[in-house]
Amino acid sequence: MIERIAALRAEAEAAVAAAGTSAELEQLRVRYLGRKAELPNVLRGIAQLEPAQRGPTGKAANQARQALDALIAARGEQLAGGELEQRLRADVVDVTLPGRPPQPVGHLHLLTATRREIEDVFLGLGFRIAEGPEVETVYYNFDALNHAPTHPARDRLDTFYVEGAGDVVLRTHTSPMQIRAMEAQPPPLYVIVPGRVYRRDSDATHTPQFHQIEGLAVDEDITLADLKGTLLAFARAIFGPDREVRLRPHFFPFTEPSVEVDVSCFMEHSARPPQRCRVCKDTGWVEILGSGMVDPNVFGYVAEHGYDAERVQGFAFGMGIERIAMLKHGVPDLRLLYDNDARFLEQFG
Ligand SMILES: [Zn+2]
Repeated sequence: MIERIAALRAEAEAAVAAAGTSAELEQLRVRYLGRKAELPNVLRGIAQLEPAQRGPTGKAANQARQALDALIAARGEQLAGGELEQRLRADVVDVTLPGRPPQPVGHLHLLTATRREIEDVFLGLGFRIAEGPEVETVYYNFDALNHAPTHPARDRLDTFYVEGAGDVVLRTHTSPMQIRAMEAQPPPLYVIVPGRVYRRDSDATHTPQFHQIEGLAVDEDITLADLKGTLLAFARAIFGPDREVRLRPHFFPFTEPSVEVDVSCFMEHSARPPQRCRVCKDTGWVEILGSGMVDPNVFGYVAEHGYDAERVQGFAFGMGIERIAMLKHGVPDLRLLYDNDARFLEQFG
């Protein structure tokens, strides 16, 4: 038995010395010292030996086990040290190498870029930007904007009502912020309101959700000429310095008088093929937004906030950001703006 222990010990020592990796060493530890290994079994079986053999056998087995234990631990440290060094060498970063080719970071979506472009124009004209809730009360969306109780826009076929919430809608325009802005601050007030609006409409020129920018100016001595001058500056900044605007009579519940605003066509007419101009249909004018002078009735809803229709006047306008972007960039279908097709989006970097 003692010879067998010596042989095991010699075999194990040779194997441990030859182990090349920590993983190999762990396998050897299991093989020679593990629960099912021979040496520990010898130790467990000492009691069954002849009494005279118990002492020397137990001693030899114990010594062998302790020696192996120490040997494996020492070899383990050696290997771990070498492996760490190897990893460090493999992971070394050469900071003098040139960087990887830069990845394109993308660019703003056409709608975002257009919104910012429009915002910049009005910031330059002295307007500030405000945002408002997309879930809005009927009071702000319709009532305070002078919509008659029978106005068709209130219909559930046209407007998303929030179920179980009473008179609450997804705002159908950014105009409710006219009232909220006036409630928040006495005149003079020059504000634009970009944001999402919702209507129950879906086809090539309508999506249930789209974007508007509202504008409101209230001050003393504001006239229709101020409105026209402001929109002319806007049209020239967005569509080119040679543009003209014209106002056509229209009706909106919350402006009086109300006008639709056209911009002179910005396409090159002399160079186009013999078809009709795709933008103006050869009329020379393109409708871009609706506007008008603030109806005195609307001021009636905010009279206690300093808006006395006898003292101040105002103009308001609202435009679709999608429409401006489509006109300016020749986008033929509104839905392209929402399809997330990279071939389309990449054209507007
Ligand atoms: Zn044209």
